[in-house]
Amino acid sequence: MTGSTSRDIAVIGGGPAGLAAAEMLAGAGHRVTLYERMPSVGRKFLIAGRGGLNLTHSEPLASFHQRYHPAQPPLAGAIDAFSPQALRDWCEGLGQPTFIGSSGRVFPKSFKASPLLRAWLGRLDTIGVRILTRHRFLGWDADGSLAFETPDGRLTVAPQATLMSLGGASWPRLGSDGTWVPLLTGAGIKVSPLKPANVGFSVPWSDVFRERFAGTPLKRVALSLGDETVRGEAMVTADGIEGGAVYALSRLIRDEIEAEGEARLVLDLRPDLTEDALMRRLASYKPGASLATRLRKDAGLDPVAASLLREAAGRALPSSAGELAALIKAAHLRLLAPRPIERAISTAGGVAFEAIDSRFMLKARPGAFVAGEMLDWEAPTGGYLLQGAFSSARAAAAGMMDWLDEAGPDL
Ligand SMILES: Cc1cc2nc3c(=O)[nH]c(=O)nc-3n(C[C@H](O)[C@H](O)[C@H](O)COP(=O)(O)OP(=O)(O)OC[C@H]3O[C@@H](n4cnc5c(N)ncnc54)[C@H](O)[C@@H]3O)c2cc1C
Repeated sequence: MTGSTSRDIAVIGGGPAGLAAAEMLAGAGHRVTLYERMPSVGRKFLIAGRGGLNLTHSEPLASFHQRYHPAQPPLAGAIDAFSPQALRDWCEGLGQPTFIGSSGRVFPKSFKASPLLRAWLGRLDTIGVRILTRHRFLGWDADGSLAFETPDGRLTVAPQATLMSLGGASWPRLGSDGTWVPLLTGAGIKVSPLKPANVGFSVPWSDVFRERFAGTPLKRVALSLGDETVRGEAMVTADGIEGGAVYALSRLIRDEIEAEGEARLVLDLRPDLTEDALMRRLASYKPGASLATRLRKDAGLDPVAASLLREAAGRALPSSAGELAALIKAAHLRLLAPRPIERAISTAGGVAFEAIDSRFMLKARPGAFVAGEMLDWEAPTGGYLLQGAFSSARAAAAGMMDWLDEAGPDL
């Protein structure tokens, strides 16, 4: 323990941020109770592990920091203090060594979240963290105590310090539903509007295209908006487009739609070929070959890419090799709106950094600290989200211990 006094601490929200904070606080000798509204903790963490738990990323810290928007110095400081390597060491300490995948992303060797969560909960139990599930935070009572809805009725508690890690508003059935926003704004705390992040967008597909290609991947494409280009894969959905490459641009697309009413996404359907090379291939067709055959055989487009070209052109396709090549290298798609926040991977917006101090404590509520996705930052997929949750939680827990030490034993 940094000071000599063991305190009663409430952590509210049992996602990775809350669990990480609870571990640090209980490890330092405090009496920690974690309140979670769902019947079990870590539900989003478990879902994150479904397709491979991408815990963090191996790129150098300088570029790592640039993934977070808006740039928040306290968050950058938190990541320096509990770095991607520290997160990997922590994971290994729980018997789950990690590896770096081909894209630089870091995963546990087991690939899953469940063995890690099991070992983690075992450790929390050993160090005395009390977990109360089915306890929903309702806000503060007039005397400053915390109110919860529980299966046994309303409960109020008055810990010496509180750490909130209530998550964003994506995938609300896993527990984080963003209903904490009015509780905090009502208490005079500035919260930037919650918005979908790492999300798909609606596209006005023709009925024919939608019926034939919903659920079909667009492989090896490059997507651009303004100066940003991302190579990867996207997925055609019944009402739009989603997938890794779209998510990577989703902050910019979302902001463009907000400002302009729609965004023009530029697709390069053959990013591995120059426009010239493509034009030469398209110009050397056999006499009598149909346009469909030329697109398939000469340009190497699969059916979804060839049809998408028609969607983008909005008219019959040109037959000249030059015009076709230009269209294949820069097919413009109109994106009209992000999918709803419930369908997003993560949430932008949240408790404004100006509402907290350098210790992650709410200026309007001394003794109450905030961490994780409920803070106003966003980042792409790639492990940056979990790293942000862990690092901010540990920084907030450290901040709380500093504050408790300063407050002295008579708090
Ligand atoms: C499908 C999917 C895949 C993902 N994959 C990855 C990945 O591979 N890598 C990565 O870095 N990130 C990934 N993420 C994102 C990552 O899971 C989140 O960023 C992370 O879980 C945020 O942690 P948190 O603790 O801040 O919030 P959460 O995990 O959302 O936890 C918040 C907790 O607070 C509880 N809570 C909310 N309101 C109340 C209340 N009023 N009272 C009591 N409890 C409350 C919730 O029930 C929840 O348990 C993925 C997300 C999704 C949806």
